[in-house]
Amino acid sequence: MAETYYCEKCNKTMNGDQFYSSNNLDKYPNDGKLNMCKKCLTLHVDNWDPETYLWILQEIDVPYIPDEWNKLLASYGKDRRKTTGMTILGRYLSKMKLK
Ligand SMILES: [Zn+2]
Repeated sequence: MAETYYCEKCNKTMNGDQFYSSNNLDKYPNDGKLNMCKKCLTLHVDNWDPETYLWILQEIDVPYIPDEWNKLLASYGKDRRKTTGMTILGRYLSKMKLK
């Protein structure tokens, strides 16, 4: 059975792939999974305004490197209407976790 996680914001139980994992296991002992699903977490993210997503990077415990973020933004953020709060963040996190 696949492990499921609970989102405190939308009150739903979902598969782990709907949640970002934090490197901060002291704060998130539940495999590092955050207590909000990806969709809820990124609801108010504006990819062009660091103020709206810096707190998420902090929760996940990855450094903010503006250069890396802007590179992704240049490649994937061309069409603002198609860009959601997850578009850049998701790619940024996978990039940071590889390092
Ligand atoms: Zn949710």
